[in-house]
Amino acid sequence: MLDGDVVVPGGSRYASARQLWDTRFDVLKPRAIAYCANVADVERVVRWSRSTGIHVVPRSGGHSYGGYSSGNGVVVADVSRLSGVAVSGTRATVGAGAKLIGVYAALAQHGLTIPAGSCPTVGVAGLALGGGVGYASRRFGTTADNLRQLRIVTADGELLTCDASHHPDLFWAGRGGGGGNFGIATSFTFATHPVSTVSTYSIEWPWAQAAQAVAAWQAFAPHAPDALFSVIDLIATDPSVANARAHVVSAGQYFGPESDLASLLQPLTSTGTPIRVTTSTLSYLDAVLHWAGCRDAASCTEPRSAFTAKSDYVNQPLSSAAIATLVNGVAARQGQGRGALYLDAHGGAINRVPKAATAFVHRDALFSIQYTSQGSGSAWLQALYAQMRPHVSGFAYQNYIDPKLATWAHAYYGGNLPRLRAVKRKFDPHGLFRFAQGIRP
Ligand SMILES: Cc1cc2nc3c(=O)[nH]c(=O)nc-3n(C[C@H](O)[C@H](O)[C@H](O)COP(=O)(O)OP(=O)(O)OC[C@H]3O[C@@H](n4cnc5c(N)ncnc54)[C@H](O)[C@@H]3O)c2cc1C
Repeated sequence: MLDGDVVVPGGSRYASARQLWDTRFDVLKPRAIAYCANVADVERVVRWSRSTGIHVVPRSGGHSYGGYSSGNGVVVADVSRLSGVAVSGTRATVGAGAKLIGVYAALAQHGLTIPAGSCPTVGVAGLALGGGVGYASRRFGTTADNLRQLRIVTADGELLTCDASHHPDLFWAGRGGGGGNFGIATSFTFATHPVSTVSTYSIEWPWAQAAQAVAAWQAFAPHAPDALFSVIDLIATDPSVANARAHVVSAGQYFGPESDLASLLQPLTSTGTPIRVTTSTLSYLDAVLHWAGCRDAASCTEPRSAFTAKSDYVNQPLSSAAIATLVNGVAARQGQGRGALYLDAHGGAINRVPKAATAFVHRDALFSIQYTSQGSGSAWLQALYAQMRPHVSGFAYQNYIDPKLATWAHAYYGGNLPRLRAVKRKFDPHGLFRFAQGIRP
């Protein structure tokens, strides 16, 4: 039936074929995993789902925080074999199953890039359909902002080519409306950007200065020149790590010379008494590998883990009480297990796009907060998240999809939700593509 192949329970490949990145979802038992070899296979799987009524869910990189690219009894339509990257002039067409490291490495051969995330094994489909934020996003926008054409097989089994003038409503929804909602994307054509070298930095403070560091960072990072993307991380280390202690580290990437970066960072380096300040100049691909924690592109992976996460957007500066809540929360976790807060600066090119121009509504955030824990840290994470409710916007990042978030529809899509539902009614009126936090017709 398919040019690709189908893996079913009982076969030797089933145990690995059904795995997502997060080991918590190893309990899920799909009915089959259909490896699509080409667009025609994707169309066949969708038509077969229509005629049999068997639920099909798309999977690209398998990094869904909610496990929504699998499920008990579903057929997983795996697009990982559609992973080509073809460059034509300033545009790149990327197969929906490409992993980010493959995209970065292929584009680097042409001296080009697209803004995307830092995890090497995230799939381009899940990332781009939900937005996509990373170390080049204050300069070039979200991954979705750089999308110029989307090819997607919709619920009637037809491949549609969507852009600003063809199916513009579906093209709009495909830029932030979230994976798994409107069909199975087969490829993405992006505007690319020439890159050569970038400067990077890392600053660590003593933990006792964590609140001071966060206050200085939030006053600086969302308002810095577009060329600088920066983060600040508050990390409770795993107790098994030698000399385990909580860390506060800011890091970032600058499209400009290291000497300029050093002076630009003065508001951070003059805060408290940093333990360590490093800057370096790297080729763009080496910077990608640096953020991914890899030596080379060929062997670059993110080890699987059991991971719980929640997110917030912060639209007004955090008060000192709110910062104290974050810092004390991480301090309380230290010694209990790994837990971390990742604050990513927005502003710049991300915030210059009007909220309704694409389905990605989060255009007035100063920064996002991602709360993460590994292993048994879920209760800690939920408690800290609850304490932060008075201090944050009520919005959350759809790519950090959060099965426990009751207000998800508003939090992910805000004022864009009615239009997303209208697109859903038009292209998938019977909800062929569905999951717990899927957009309803
Ligand atoms: C370790 C880690 C690091 C991350 N880092 C970043 C980061 O730096 N920046 C950032 O913005 N995000 C980041 N993310 C979040 C990431 O963007 C989302 O988890 C994203 O949804 C993953 O996409 P995927 O294709 O790998 O996942 P999948 O699980 O394959 O898919 C995610 C969703 O999209 C759907 N989908 C998959 N393929 C298709 C398709 N072809 N057509 C339509 N729908 C499809 C799935 O059904 C599912 O609902 C990170 C996640 C992890 C786990």
